[in-house]
Amino acid sequence: MTEQQFLTGKTVLVTGSVQGIGLAIATALGEAGANVALHGLAGPDQARAAIETVRKAGSPKVDFFDADLSVENSADTLMDDVLAWGNGIDVLVNNAGIQKTAPLTEVEPETWAKIIEVNLSAAFRTMRRAMPGMAERGYGRVINIASVHGLVASQQKASYVASKFGLVGLSRVAALEYASAGSRKSGGVTVNCICPGWTETAIIEPQIVARAAQFDGNRDAGIRDLLTEKQPTQRTSDAAEIGALALWLCNPVAHNITGTSIPIDGGWTAQ
Ligand code: NAD
Repeated sequence: MTEQQFLTGKTVLVTGSVQGIGLAIATALGEAGANVALHGLAGPDQARAAIETVRKAGSPKVDFFDADLSVENSADTLMDDVLAWGNGIDVLVNNAGIQKTAPLTEVEPETWAKIIEVNLSAAFRTMRRAMPGMAERGYGRVINIASVHGLVASQQKASYVASKFGLVGLSRVAALEYASAGSRKSGGVTVNCICPGWTETAIIEPQIVARAAQFDGNRDAGIRDLLTEKQPTQRTSDAAEIGALALWLCNPVAHNITGTSIPIDGGWTAQ
């Protein structure tokens, strides 16, 4: 085991990890030697491709778990399966997320409920099952993928913003409750949020398409306009950059970083 493979022997669950940010995080953690439980809404081909990516990165054990987190209690079934598969979970990354933009008065109650279930309630359900084992072992990491929209608001995103602010609050409570678990040597149990700004993945595609339409369908112009409005660096993030931060948070050296919400947002929330 090299120093870079400090997650060897550890079990990781990344929800929503068949593509985008989740797959990038699973790949980074797999490269560090972790056994990786992949999860998401995916057909057999996409699931196989994700397994192959993480295995090639260096993970000794990778499997895919199917669970639609918009269905109440499916997170509990997922946790039963993964806890048995991995003999506990050392790193839990709640990454699965959905979004639908609409003015507040046009948000269907069903859409509100689904976004809250997937983005927030599923994290509550996974954390309460994974964290007691982390405390017993003296090492654990919960990394919740919130958003800049867990820190500031934008129009037309009531359900999404409410879910992500909720996720930031939930993470802070869990960080406090588990702060004294473990030690510097064992690595402790920490709970943090990563708060991305614009990151080019499928979830923002409808917003890119809508903005591009204002520029005769020019995609680059649409992205430029989205960035100009909110993200001062004028650069999108790459999912792998979020993977790199998630990996760093797993290192025992980060034992005292807990209860934080770390933006990767090109200065968006500095304004
Ligand atoms: P994405 O759409 O590519 O990935 C979303 C993942 O969630 C997929 O793997 C999908 O299978 C899974 N998922 C969706 N609905 C699900 C359900 N009902 N049950 C189980 N799994 C489900 O988008 P992404 O950008 O990779 O999103 C990952 C996370 O990052 C989300 O929580 C999102 O809110 C957050 N985020 C993304 C951005 C961005 O600009 N891309 C910015 C801030 C926050």
